[in-house]
Amino acid sequence: MAFELPKLTYEYTSLEPHIDARTMEIHHTKHHQAYVTNLNNALAGTDAEKLSIEEICKNISKYPMPVRNNGGGHFNHSMFWTVMAPNAGGEPTGDVATGINAAFGSFAEFKTQFATAAATRFGSGWAWLLVKDGKFVVSSTPNQDNPLMDIADVKGSPILGIDVWEHAYYLHYQNRRPDYVAAFWNVINWNEVAKRLKEVK
Ligand code: MN
Repeated sequence: MAFELPKLTYEYTSLEPHIDARTMEIHHTKHHQAYVTNLNNALAGTDAEKLSIEEICKNISKYPMPVRNNGGGHFNHSMFWTVMAPNAGGEPTGDVATGINAAFGSFAEFKTQFATAAATRFGSGWAWLLVKDGKFVVSSTPNQDNPLMDIADVKGSPILGIDVWEHAYYLHYQNRRPDYVAAFWNVINWNEVAKRLKEVK
């Protein structure tokens, strides 16, 4: 069965004013859809059609570049939509808060490191909070790479990610990527991050 564009559980307008509806709509229906379509085309007729997107990412070095770019794009965006929600943000609790405090000392220090990773990723890419050997780590990746991939500099299980491609913010924030990253804190769905952490454990 071919990969499909996941439906959002909220409206395109729901993340305003932090992320505008037009950006959400184009990002989901055009950009993510293109990754799905191109991934399906790249995998058509191969054994990898039976695999999960996670399994493909974990062995990405065995695939041609279109699978890396579009498979990464599909995994990354599928996660991105779920780690955002309306009426979200604030500070995490429970195991997520414990993991952040253990790794970074405080939520404020985690925010600084995550925002720095997002701001300093040159060109297009993603910043991540991931679990590596049981510990929380912040990293960033170029293009549509992610920490699941066997080619990643920092490998692990991502539990939060922010898209810092210009298509994720340019309509509303133009060149002001740090303003977009600052707004992201208001839409983080910590319940989903906690769910993903539980699945890692
Ligand atoms: Mn994107």
